[in-house]
Amino acid sequence: MIDFVVRNALIVDGTGGKPAQGDLAIDGGRIVGVGPHLVVNARRTLDASGLALMPGIIDSHTHFDAQITWDPTLSPSPALGVTTAVIGNCGFTIAPCRPADREITMRNLTQVEGMSIEALRQGIAWGFETFPEYMAQLRAAGSVANVAAYVGHSSVRTWVMGGDAARRAATADEIAQMQAIVREAMSAGAVGFASSTSPAHNGEGGLPMPSRLASDEEMAALVGAMGEGGRGVYMLTKGGHTPIPFLESLAAATGRPVMVAALLHNSVNPTAVFADLDAIAAANARGRRMLGQVSCCPLSMDFTLASPYPVEGLASWKPALGLAGAALEAVLADKAFRDGVRAELATPTTFRLFNSEWHKVQVVETAEPAQQRFEQRSIAEIATESGRDPLDTMLDIALADGLKTVFTAMLLNSDEEAVGRMLNDPHSIVSLSDAGAHLTFFNDAGFGLHLLGHWSRDRGAMSLAEAVRRLTSHPASVFGFEKRGLIEEGFAADLLLFDPKTVGRGPKRRVHDLPGGAARLTTDAVGVHGVWVNGRQVADANGLLAEAPLAGELLTRFAD
Ligand SMILES: [Zn+2]
Repeated sequence: MIDFVVRNALIVDGTGGKPAQGDLAIDGGRIVGVGPHLVVNARRTLDASGLALMPGIIDSHTHFDAQITWDPTLSPSPALGVTTAVIGNCGFTIAPCRPADREITMRNLTQVEGMSIEALRQGIAWGFETFPEYMAQLRAAGSVANVAAYVGHSSVRTWVMGGDAARRAATADEIAQMQAIVREAMSAGAVGFASSTSPAHNGEGGLPMPSRLASDEEMAALVGAMGEGGRGVYMLTKGGHTPIPFLESLAAATGRPVMVAALLHNSVNPTAVFADLDAIAAANARGRRMLGQVSCCPLSMDFTLASPYPVEGLASWKPALGLAGAALEAVLADKAFRDGVRAELATPTTFRLFNSEWHKVQVVETAEPAQQRFEQRSIAEIATESGRDPLDTMLDIALADGLKTVFTAMLLNSDEEAVGRMLNDPHSIVSLSDAGAHLTFFNDAGFGLHLLGHWSRDRGAMSLAEAVRRLTSHPASVFGFEKRGLIEEGFAADLLLFDPKTVGRGPKRRVHDLPGGAARLTTDAVGVHGVWVNGRQVADANGLLAEAPLAGELLTRFAD
């Protein structure tokens, strides 16, 4: 008698091969049979007629490092089909961390990853100092999904250099101490070493995140320490000044895979990301293992007119900067101010987040009931309908709402033809959900469902089989997750049951459920019928089970 059998599913097995109708038998957390008309005696049978069954989604770019210590459900990812999450991306981790550095570590996370400081202060369970102790805590506490953790450069640097970590280069002795910590973390089961050289990554008080102060020698020494045991992935969110050839030299020296983030398409500099992907392809042709992390979601940012990040860089916006309440409302209502903004927007320039793409600005949430009719509609659409100017349209909606209207603007990765090419690049990995971070700006934890629904079904950018491969066996092979990522006998029963006709991610919603009541954006699954982690069901058609079991495993052993 086995645990359960799923009958009559369209099995999309993760290999990229043609999906086939069949049954799946699960016992003891593993797949024990797959094929048409399985003859098995099971305690439970699930009829999956009309539905598709695939391996669970592997999310290779998350920031659950802090959240996992108070929320082992890793909300909202498992309900969105994610059965394995890789944490510690960009090197923004919380271990190792001495008690004296906890406050600065939390303040940095608040700044760089948009996490509420109150949520972090109330939420993080600091039962550890070293990386091995952090792993022991995660193992003891358990989690709904499987987790693999990077050791993070900024934490390693802060441990060794204290307050100087964000201020200066390291000495040879300090680099040696950092190497020892990286080695210790790899022995404790880290999946690799993660870092950032991105100028966008600033911590408390606008100081650069510590890893940005690293010299090339320091970076090479730490990646070398990671790779000594013949294991580990080096992950870097790179700034424009970090050339691919330098990263290729690290791949060559260590023989380890190098994963480069964040490759997003910018409509005003449309060739840059393809130059990076070409350089990565050339490195692969020379025998290096290099990948570029790409996203299947437009990078959108939520904002209100009280703090409109996408337009605050405009010179004509200056009169409004620093104002609040009635004074700000007066400026936003002023015709001369509006004419100035209109004139500046009329001239396109290269380095500007927002370029009058009004069809890419949407009303998310309104405060006044009379305004609800604008929700989920674009400014371009509303303006055309009323025959009014789009800037006036947006500002008037906000003013009628006491500036409480939440808008969203798609800033990067919105050129779908270009993004489709990036998703199909042989050396890209579909990633960058940033789940667990930037909770007030965006939430792409449902990226996998979006790839299946939007990109595969609706746009036909890739077959369903290829979309599933990209979300499952591809990342599993890069990270060396053994016996995961395929529907095959002997593999872990990490599974996602969904309706291919409807699968997708739902609209964003704002909820106030972080520790201390802080707000975050979340999103619900569409067309998901069940999610299993190691053979145990954690979500159904209504989302995460109320008593979702802590079925996940802390992954610490990886194949090459
Ligand atoms: Zn990140």
